[in-house]
Amino acid sequence: MRPDVENLIALQQADKEIHRLKEEIAGLPKIVAAIEAKLAGTKAELEKAKGAAKADEANKRKYESAIQDLQGKISKYRDQSLAVKTNDQYKALLQEIQFAEQEIRGNEDKILEVMMNVDNRDKEVKAAEAELKAETAEIEKEKDIARQKTAEDEKLLVEWNAKRDAARGGVAPDMLAHYDRVAKHRGSGLAEVREQKCMACQVMLRPQTYNEVRSGERTIVCDSCSRILYYNPAHDAQMTAAVATATKRRRAHPKFDASQAWYYRPEFADLGEVYLSFTNAGGSSTRRIFDAQTGRRLGDVLSREGEYRLGFPEDLKDSIRLNGNWTEEDIDGWNDEMPTTVIDALQRDLDLARAEASRERSRTESVPVQQPAAS
Ligand SMILES: [Zn+2]
Repeated sequence: MRPDVENLIALQQADKEIHRLKEEIAGLPKIVAAIEAKLAGTKAELEKAKGAAKADEANKRKYESAIQDLQGKISKYRDQSLAVKTNDQYKALLQEIQFAEQEIRGNEDKILEVMMNVDNRDKEVKAAEAELKAETAEIEKEKDIARQKTAEDEKLLVEWNAKRDAARGGVAPDMLAHYDRVAKHRGSGLAEVREQKCMACQVMLRPQTYNEVRSGERTIVCDSCSRILYYNPAHDAQMTAAVATATKRRRAHPKFDASQAWYYRPEFADLGEVYLSFTNAGGSSTRRIFDAQTGRRLGDVLSREGEYRLGFPEDLKDSIRLNGNWTEEDIDGWNDEMPTTVIDALQRDLDLARAEASRERSRTESVPVQQPAAS
């Protein structure tokens, strides 16, 4: 491999790591800010609970002083009643006294209500205080972790920046300019070629371009994504060997009654090329859809009654059955994205299945056909 390509590989790795570190450093204050927002919320809760307790206290005092006033009025009416001349006047005073007594009872009820609430208020205030204390401790801890992590990342960033500068120094200026331009738009400026494919955009190279990349004599960029292409014989030799053994072997045919089945569909519900995986278990079946190019899982995992041929008959139309068997735990562990080894294995089996189908076709179509008369 040419030294400038080796430097570009080192540069791409440094760029990727620098990007990751910068993202991580930028993300740390956000974690702290989120806890701080939670803390502010708890503080507001506490203030509210305290405010409510204060309002209760003020109301209680208001009702108590109202009772005092009413009691004053009653004793005033009693004094007056001793001096009245007529029965009517006496009756009127008695009525006033009764009315005031009724009002006193009303105020006493309200005081009782407030008192019954005091317990709840106390609990609210205490809970908010405890939460505030816990959150304050947590935020200090988080801030500490963030500070430490930032310091570590900053140190790594200095190291990676030095590696980056060294790598850049070893690449020709025009090549570097091209790399920078593509990296700015696509996130990376360099791609490996394996099995005649650009590993970044997955587009097949023309044979001549492929040979030029392999020879490594001059800089070749991908027609489709413009990334600078390089070829690593160590990687591709493994691939070629794997493909060679796979092609030599007769293609194993998937079992009809296997508990797991993989299918390829060139077109599936506007999703383009997909792999479908079905699993039968306990009288029902589940279906997963994966993008055949990126390996990303599409849509939700779907479960239906009955084994998959009964549950998902419409999905099997125009499909190619493939070999593939991974445990459900494996599939769940992929985190919604098939590993490259799985994509490669399915792709290889698909190639073999297609080759087999075309051999089959040419055999059945080799029946002599009458040639139309020359015009
Ligand atoms: Zn490409």
